[in-house]
Amino acid sequence: MPAKKSKILVLGFDGASPKLIDQWIEDLPTFKRLKTHGIFGHTIPPIPAQTPVAWTTFMTGKNPGKHGIFSFMMRKKGSYRRQIAQPSMTNSKTIWHLLSEGGKKVGVINVPMSDAEQIKGFIIPGFLSPTEGTPHPEKIKNIISRKFGIESLTGDVETEILRNVDKAPEKFFKRTNEITEETAQISQFLAQKEDWDFFMTVFMSTDRIQHFFWNYVDSTHEQHEKNKFTQLVKDHYVKLDGIMKDFLELIDKETIVIVLSDHGFCQVSKELVINNYLEELGFLKAKNDRVDLERSEAVSYGYGDIWLNVKNREPQGLIKLGKEYEKTRNAIIQALKNLRMDGEKPFKDIKKREEIYWGEQLSNGPDLMAIFNTGWQAARRPEIMEKQPSGTYVNEKPRWSGGHDGTHDPVDVPGIIGIIGPNTQKPLKIQVHLWDLAPTILQIMNMPIPHDMDGQPIQL
Ligand SMILES: [Zn+2]
Repeated sequence: MPAKKSKILVLGFDGASPKLIDQWIEDLPTFKRLKTHGIFGHTIPPIPAQTPVAWTTFMTGKNPGKHGIFSFMMRKKGSYRRQIAQPSMTNSKTIWHLLSEGGKKVGVINVPMSDAEQIKGFIIPGFLSPTEGTPHPEKIKNIISRKFGIESLTGDVETEILRNVDKAPEKFFKRTNEITEETAQISQFLAQKEDWDFFMTVFMSTDRIQHFFWNYVDSTHEQHEKNKFTQLVKDHYVKLDGIMKDFLELIDKETIVIVLSDHGFCQVSKELVINNYLEELGFLKAKNDRVDLERSEAVSYGYGDIWLNVKNREPQGLIKLGKEYEKTRNAIIQALKNLRMDGEKPFKDIKKREEIYWGEQLSNGPDLMAIFNTGWQAARRPEIMEKQPSGTYVNEKPRWSGGHDGTHDPVDVPGIIGIIGPNTQKPLKIQVHLWDLAPTILQIMNMPIPHDMDGQPIQL
């Protein structure tokens, strides 16, 4: 049983892959310590295994059917338009909110989809928050400003540098390393200076690096090649291992440390243009080189999500709920499942939303989710509603060589989990769902677990 006055430190590495940690374990002493002296294994992300969906699943302990975040690009209810996911769209309390209500002091840094909530402690919101990087409350902002001379935290590599990775890869690595070091410094400074029961920091670097450089580190990748990038990615993991070591040195013996990623990665070498195939099947109509959303029966928005044009739901709905809706969904499922591209099956499965989600937000999810086999992902460039030339189904040159979100089976892109503390079982190999973490944290803190959480606490 955990000690009565428990403290928890969570270190999140966005997209950190168990596959890479396993292959480099001898050069990652802190990960090795976790593996040999702690609880270690895989986390199963939600569907889709995308950063905003996965971190929201972590922080609420619920599936997307309850927390309401179904994608990076959310469809606006009652419209054909999409909008980027934001923390304010989350339909559930976060773990730091619950801890705060229970009287615990929290510190939360750079977690994607976190927001400037009123909590006991402080928060520096991460990726996709409208106040990303701004420390709350003012007191923390002033402390950081005095110590580091900055008004906000840069927790993620700048868009401009991401856009030019192909042209300037060294610059990308250099900046990514700088940001990682600064995030670590500020986090470690606050972890020492502030009083907390729960402290969490997320590093975004592993996700950004792996999207572009996965083929240099995954020996099963169709375009695998070992070169200087192989070493640069490995060097970054070694850096993160060192950061973990520094954290472990500054905490007291009673603190339980949880290390995790929101998903891992798999190889991507081809993209499928689902919309062109839906057009060939007669479900999608085009007008002036654009997808005609009003006349189409079904459309995909580029992440494996497929939406039907339903009467009384979409502005120009065509399909009646009930028999017609089921018939159309079944026909699309059948056609996509039978699809072969040069003898290959792009899809592992096609799921109806009620097969993968449950809860009061279910009706806001896509009607179907296409699950791709590894090696494939959904094409989303050029801009998804631009009609690509008919007959074009496959893009052989995706910009990214590693993926997780386009959309893959969660078991094909597992994340990592490691837990080490004074009274944890050791060593223990586990596989857990991302929604199991919030109940685990509450249990360690001796707090009640809300009945509507989907996860089960991990037995420490
Ligand atoms: Zn992620």
